[in-house]
Amino acid sequence: MFEKVDSKCEHIKLEHRILKWWQEIKAFDKLREKNAGGKVWSFLDGPITANNPMGVHHAWGRTLKDVYQRYNAMMGCEQRYQNGFDCQGLWVEVEVEKEMGYKTKADIERAGLEHFINRCKERVEKYSKVQSGQSIRLGYWMDWDNSYYTMSDENNYTIWAFLKKCHQRGLIYKGLDAMPWCPRCETGISEQERREGYKNIEDTAVYVRLPLVRRENEYLLVWTTTPWTLAANVACAVNAELKYAKVEQGGCKYYLAESLIKVMREKGEYKVEEVISGKEMIGWEYQGPFDELEAVKVAFAEKKYVHRIIEWEDVSDSEGVGIVHIAPGCGKEDFDLGKEFGLPILMPIDERGVYSEGYGFLTGQSAGEVADQVLEKLRAKELYYKKEKYAHDYPHCWRCATPLVFRAVDEWYIDMSWRDEIMEVTKQIRWIPEWGKDQELNWLENMADWMISKKRFWGLALPIFECECGHFDVIGGREELKERAVKGWEKFEGNSPHRPWVDNIHIKCEKCGKDVERIGDVGNPWLDAGIVPYSTVGYNSDKEYWQKWIPADLVLECFPGQFRNWFYALLAMSTMMEGVKPFKTLLGHALVRDEHGKEMHKSAGNAIWFDEAVEKMGADVMRWIYCGHNSTNNLNFGYGIGEQVSRRVFSTWWNVYSFFVNYARLDGFEPGSEAVAYDGFSANSVS
Ligand SMILES: [Zn+2]
Ligand SMILES: [Zn+2]
Repeated sequence: MFEKVDSKCEHIKLEHRILKWWQEIKAFDKLREKNAGGKVWSFLDGPITANNPMGVHHAWGRTLKDVYQRYNAMMGCEQRYQNGFDCQGLWVEVEVEKEMGYKTKADIERAGLEHFINRCKERVEKYSKVQSGQSIRLGYWMDWDNSYYTMSDENNYTIWAFLKKCHQRGLIYKGLDAMPWCPRCETGISEQERREGYKNIEDTAVYVRLPLVRRENEYLLVWTTTPWTLAANVACAVNAELKYAKVEQGGCKYYLAESLIKVMREKGEYKVEEVISGKEMIGWEYQGPFDELEAVKVAFAEKKYVHRIIEWEDVSDSEGVGIVHIAPGCGKEDFDLGKEFGLPILMPIDERGVYSEGYGFLTGQSAGEVADQVLEKLRAKELYYKKEKYAHDYPHCWRCATPLVFRAVDEWYIDMSWRDEIMEVTKQIRWIPEWGKDQELNWLENMADWMISKKRFWGLALPIFECECGHFDVIGGREELKERAVKGWEKFEGNSPHRPWVDNIHIKCEKCGKDVERIGDVGNPWLDAGIVPYSTVGYNSDKEYWQKWIPADLVLECFPGQFRNWFYALLAMSTMMEGVKPFKTLLGHALVRDEHGKEMHKSAGNAIWFDEAVEKMGADVMRWIYCGHNSTNNLNFGYGIGEQVSRRVFSTWWNVYSFFVNYARLDGFEPGSEAVAYDGFSANSVS
């Protein structure tokens, strides 16, 4: 008997029988009927990205969501049980591109945008079904036929309404800014996304010597880890407070931070001739590394500018040479300095990370591939000093892992100067654990403006119509679009408000009367998920219903990342829409690791797939692991742990039950009719 009930296999068979039985007796429907009209308890589901099968990490959150809803059901509460699917964005595009064998954005355009968008929709439909099935297998009770999809018309149009409200307050703007850019995906990567993609890599750091003007045989020593940006050099920055040394070596004189002279050691003997403050060097002119390039000549002539030393208090002597090469078209800080000092901005690379016209030998080459050629050229020009290996954390595309470059580009932003309002709303929410609130407030205090545009295809069509005259309009919904349309409505009607269909529509510029098209950009995907307390709970159609369910009682998601993503979008959008909190309590859980506490990776071979785990260890065992863990700590998950739970917890339980059944039978005990309604619970099934 003992061995028989210990059989894991039997537990798993039993799970399948119970799932079937729930279906047969319509257990979930009965529960909802029983609780209809009861006290309202509102759970708001954070949408799962419907792009791949769900993982064991998703199953943790989904188990907890189920447990909270079941608990409140047992308390007699009426609930909505609405699951959500996140549908739009680059993550889906990247998978569809792989599926179709596309390599670049041009491949997508060649195949036709409509074709591509339909494939994206199909992928979402496919995986939303897969994930629903997996969730059901986990024992998760939801109203699966009533899931919301962020690609729905209502979701998209409600975001338009949000953007319109921002615009009415003068908060939408277009700005040229240097930003991290993925040359493969050909799009800017927002501040939120960039933080996810840092990787430690080894680069070549190069020391370059740039001749000072009117100072014979004197050079600035400059250090950079991105040699490709040297062609866009415009200035060099020093810290006015730092001490700089003039050092003689091999008949030449070099300027660098006094504390970093040691970098010259390997190139031979040297002698310090003089020590001055950075302040004295400000304004010195020097020859740039690639002044012969046409693009450099033109940009400098336009501004009547020559390369010079500028002051920047962030220059330190912690690495390099204490003199920083500034290329305003290739870096965020560089760009800000460029604006501050009115420097020319050289924008050397295009959307694919390839050098544009005017960059001589570099033109037509990819920025990621020119390091050696740049060094070679510098050597030929006698500007090369030395190089070294340099390990550092460098941002990579969080979707395709390509190293990012920085580009100065036009993007659309929401001015977030109203952050105080969002912080007020944030403070009204109960955060579990409590430090979540501080983390969120910290983000809100320090975040930059919200970049909402992406130069891609599958996503929210930003309802911005920009005219040549400089005026732009933001459309707040379908009706307004119809009213304002002067062309293209018939091509759009009957389609979802996505590209390419919505791109047909022209409106008339309010200011100058010209025909205006929508800007091509799609939206930041967190807008899609952030609007759901409005778009999925009847805000547009039934205000009373909306007020019944919002603010939700609970939101439950994985903590890391969401402070600047979903939680942020929820809080910001709800503050703008109605000035109210979208939910009352937020429970955050940590991350799932492997049995040894390591991150699970397909490539490391330690990833566990949900479908395999649930049939090997059983949903009950998985749920026990998830529920028995303090959700603020990372959870170690694996078959060894499952085995222990199965043996220690479930076998004990089955033994107790089996003991009871055996002796109850011997005594001729017959339980009440309702308790034996299903064979799945009888002792026969386990012994
Ligand atoms: Zn990418
Ligand atoms: Zn106009």
